[in-house]
Amino acid sequence: MSTPLHVAVIGAGAFGGWTALELCRRGARVTLLDAWGPGHSRSSSGGETRIIRGVYGPDKVYVDWTARALPLWREAESRWGLPLYRRTGCLWMCGDDDAYVRTSLPHLADAGLAIAGLSPREARRRFPQIDFAGVASVFYEEEAGYLLARRACQAVAAGVAAEGGEVRLAAAAPGPIAHGRLERLELGRGFTLAADLYVFACGPWLGGLFPEVIGERRILSTRQEVFYFGPPAGDPRFEEGACPVWIDLSGERIYYGIPGNEHRGFKVADDTRGEPLDPTTAERTVTPSLLDAARSAMARRFPALAGAPLVETRVCQYENTPDGHLLFDRHPHAANVWLLGGGSGHGFKLGPAVGEYAAETILGDRAPLPLFALDRPAFTHGAPMRTQFDAAV
Ligand SMILES: Cc1cc2nc3c(=O)[nH]c(=O)nc-3n(C[C@H](O)[C@H](O)[C@H](O)COP(=O)(O)OP(=O)(O)OC[C@H]3O[C@@H](n4cnc5c(N)ncnc54)[C@H](O)[C@@H]3O)c2cc1C
Repeated sequence: MSTPLHVAVIGAGAFGGWTALELCRRGARVTLLDAWGPGHSRSSSGGETRIIRGVYGPDKVYVDWTARALPLWREAESRWGLPLYRRTGCLWMCGDDDAYVRTSLPHLADAGLAIAGLSPREARRRFPQIDFAGVASVFYEEEAGYLLARRACQAVAAGVAAEGGEVRLAAAAPGPIAHGRLERLELGRGFTLAADLYVFACGPWLGGLFPEVIGERRILSTRQEVFYFGPPAGDPRFEEGACPVWIDLSGERIYYGIPGNEHRGFKVADDTRGEPLDPTTAERTVTPSLLDAARSAMARRFPALAGAPLVETRVCQYENTPDGHLLFDRHPHAANVWLLGGGSGHGFKLGPAVGEYAAETILGDRAPLPLFALDRPAFTHGAPMRTQFDAAV
């Protein structure tokens, strides 16, 4: 029997965790390392919840990956006996330009993901707790909902350990590159780790680890603030079951929200990219003006929550590529190194599908999709940041 390939995966967030798991399932010997542990509070995959939705503007690959990820999330839930995916539906509220949703409709149909347009009357009837003023068209995506983020990262890492991998708390730096290959990882205090292949899935830290090949300009971490408001006592209208996940594309800024959150409060966030942030050293306290703005946006759509108190906050970061697409490519000077990241505020849901794709590409020694390449023009030139919703506005 041949010795299995040893793959070191650095980063146990949504991308690294799932990639490690899929590598184990394909027979690799896997070491999964993370500096602070899966789903920790500085990581982009930390916190309570993330939306899963299939509408993705013109970007068919992400619609297909969402469609692939959904059964994999369900399979993970039943395998591990944990709730990870909550099917609440997703309500899309658009202004006069609903191109972002409409361009996705054929891709959703191809992928078998159900979505329905709702007349304003029907929308008001189904969701009386929402004020649809200024909304020109409404769509309801059936299988969308939310995922339990931090819990899922922990479950995936536990899955890696259960399926034969090794999970370690360690901060890894790439060691020397010689003859076109990375020789080892430096783990600090003189410790090293050598493997056959290395996958760096380091989220907002990826640019800093590879300053010449990526750099912090091409994966820019921006401050994203999330607010949880407390609904009135005994009021079920803002819980899942009555209230879906919602994305409001009708205004100048795009707000979105998640009901329930395991009773942590009614989550509201602004998708606008914030100030650059250092993911290691940033203090994670919220900005009063952004809190006021979020509260107003919530009160406009959910009038009964106008006086709701703030019950929790979270400051996270998006790790943005210039064009909003992921990064997945081989290191140009080290053939045994793969770089994976650039979730750009939308990567979490895709984790299981990205993990499958990455593991197959890496073990199959295949060329990755050009859309995610290091040398794509938008990435090379560091074009202005494109957000997931740019097609809508
Ligand atoms: C506020 C917010 C809302 C979002 N909403 C959604 C949403 O609704 N739906 C959605 O799909 N996505 C959403 N996203 C995006 C999504 O969460 C991210 O794209 C995804 O989690 C990125 O995962 P990752 O594995 O690339 O990064 P991370 O989760 O940051 O994981 C990287 C890991 O690498 C480790 N690491 C880094 N450097 C080293 C090193 N040198 N040695 C060892 N370990 C290292 C870190 O400790 C970290 O755990 C949101 C993000 C934020 C911040």
